[in-house]
Amino acid sequence: MASIFTKIIEGEIPSYKIYEDDKTYAFLDINPETKGHTLVVPKVEVDKIYELSDEDWGALWASVKKIAAHIEEVTGRRVIMKVIGTDVPHAHVHLMPLDETWEYGRTLKLRDEEFEEIRDKLAF
Ligand code: AMP
Repeated sequence: MASIFTKIIEGEIPSYKIYEDDKTYAFLDINPETKGHTLVVPKVEVDKIYELSDEDWGALWASVKKIAAHIEEVTGRRVIMKVIGTDVPHAHVHLMPLDETWEYGRTLKLRDEEFEEIRDKLAF
């Protein structure tokens, strides 16, 4: 069965998309630790990130680098990242613009309009 992230990539489940290329897809995390918390996902579905082929690994981290720099440029904030992989069995990297409210694992409740506003600022 397809993972929830594959369903997002294929458009079966909606997402606040930030960026897409032929090998990766990035969208806002619905349980954000900071405003702008983004997940970068390889289009190929593997559970553990270290199961990616060298080519897909390279493509994922190239996108992470590009998207992190973009988020920093737009928000003016240092971007922190984490790879956890306990919840969704489809490899992904978290990117979060660091602000003074951030606490590890503590999530914000945002309204749809707030997600849309952040998406509109960050999408490229
Ligand atoms: P982890 O596997 O521990 O790295 O966490 C998976 C992340 O995916 C969590 O931060 C969830 O909030 C996020 N997540 C799960 N489902 C969705 C979804 N439909 N849209 C956006 N983010 C999601």
